[in-house]
Amino acid sequence: MRILALADMHSHSIRSFEGWRKMYEPDLILLLGDVMSVYIHMLRDEFADSVPYYAVLGNHDDPHMPDHWAGRVEFVGQKIQQYKENTFVGIDGCLDPIGRPSMISQPDWAVTSFLNCLPKDVENLVIVSHNSPYGIHDDPTVMSHTGFSGLTKLLTESSGTIVLHGHMHKNTTSLFGSNSVVGLYGVNIIEIENNEVTQNQSLM
Ligand SMILES: [Zn+2]
Repeated sequence: MRILALADMHSHSIRSFEGWRKMYEPDLILLLGDVMSVYIHMLRDEFADSVPYYAVLGNHDDPHMPDHWAGRVEFVGQKIQQYKENTFVGIDGCLDPIGRPSMISQPDWAVTSFLNCLPKDVENLVIVSHNSPYGIHDDPTVMSHTGFSGLTKLLTESSGTIVLHGHMHKNTTSLFGSNSVVGLYGVNIIEIENNEVTQNQSLM
């Protein structure tokens, strides 16, 4: 499965995705949070309804986005979505930054209890999270850049799981046992075969 993934488009300037449908032929478009609506409009200008769009909310996103894009973008935060051979599970926001209620955030325990309730026999699981797992690609000295510990717990208990995350402004991949944790920033094209990331190219 080929995925066009966008994350944290804070400092990226792109005016159009014209020609990208033929050039990259993605099976899915993933929005990993903090991707402004202007980019979603541009994506839809090029890809229309030729591919599904899955999204999670970033900490800076407008909480009304799921209503605004209803029927056009599937917001998968705290949901399970089967597509082709993979099961996608979304996690919105970052860790609760104390005193910043305007941000989309979740307490650590809420993410842990959601992940604990996932069925244990899910195959080819792909977690789509704005925030990273705790201890992987994160910065625990800053509350809002501390990863979710429930994601790390899930990785210690599973094999062949792929975590795709944004928020940390890094394009980097780490292996955790037989699991892969892929930090994404900007626009990337990723190739996933069942439970393995076979290609990851940063486009801008
Ligand atoms: Zn963020």
